[in-house]
Amino acid sequence: MSTALRGDGPIDCHVHCFGAGAGGSGCWIRVRGWRRLIMRPLLQQAGFRAGDLEGDFDARFLRRMEGMVADAGLRAAVLLAHDLPHSEKGEPMPSATPFHVPNRHVLAAARNSSRLLAGVSIHPARPDALDELEACAEAGAALIKLLPNCLNIDPRRKAYRGFWRRSAELGLPVLAHTGGEFLLPETDHRMSDPAVWEPVLEDCGLTVIAAHCGTRGHPLRPSYFPTFRRMAGRHERFYGDTSALHLPLRGFVLSACLEPEVERKLVHGSDFPVPFFRFGLPPRLWLRQGWGKLASNPLRRDLVCKQRLGFGADVFTRLARLIPARAWSGGEAKPPADRSEP
Ligand SMILES: [Zn+2]
Repeated sequence: MSTALRGDGPIDCHVHCFGAGAGGSGCWIRVRGWRRLIMRPLLQQAGFRAGDLEGDFDARFLRRMEGMVADAGLRAAVLLAHDLPHSEKGEPMPSATPFHVPNRHVLAAARNSSRLLAGVSIHPARPDALDELEACAEAGAALIKLLPNCLNIDPRRKAYRGFWRRSAELGLPVLAHTGGEFLLPETDHRMSDPAVWEPVLEDCGLTVIAAHCGTRGHPLRPSYFPTFRRMAGRHERFYGDTSALHLPLRGFVLSACLEPEVERKLVHGSDFPVPFFRFGLPPRLWLRQGWGKLASNPLRRDLVCKQRLGFGADVFTRLARLIPARAWSGGEAKPPADRSEP
């Protein structure tokens, strides 16, 4: 078992993991229709081509990620699992998502790497949700990643309160997608409104990090940044991440994010491998000498870009104070057993 690097240093809280199932990883990708067009640029960001999904892709992806994190000068990156959407009765809905990354895959990656942390994903309607939560916490999970608008989760449901409370007791924050979603099919776009977390923040003691700060992720959906901003000021345990704020639909909020009362509630995240749109950023950033060299490592480019924008050092290190200490040592227990594949 390796121990992730301690000490101060920037942490990327939002790095997606992909796998095709090689080596029994349990991961799968089933992209249909126009979304096939998106796969190529996503893989390119990680230095792969579509044909590379064959063979030992899953292990090579993890090795590539570890190398990119080290080369970027990051202390660590949180690698995100992706649970299946479930009905409110707890039935899995595998056809409603184009990919799946089981928790045991990211937990094993974190355990075997000095630079990767595990972001697990647990749908709270799962019949085994609480057991999985305990097992993941014991195995060294850093946080729980959820997309309520794509996984069919209404965080306000009373039936989920026990899950949120136990997550809070275990010290696990929820990194929740907010703002509309373009790349993945949505089950209910209204669940991308940060306000759906307000009753949870008031009653459950949970720390919630709103991915993308509620900014617009779909051209036909509203921006919830004003809601994010109000909630960040009101709720001590409510934060936002800076992931994908370079995208044209989201970038309008960058100057507002640099205001002290917003910046003090932000954590650094890239949303790798979402392709980088430099034209969403002020030209003074990317016209500088040396910008071209950054393209070889999207994690480094995102980090340098956020630093040049003027985000303070605390934004890059804040996550360390929001996740359990045991996440740095990969936990003491084995990762949870695999669930039967759909
Ligand atoms: Zn993301």
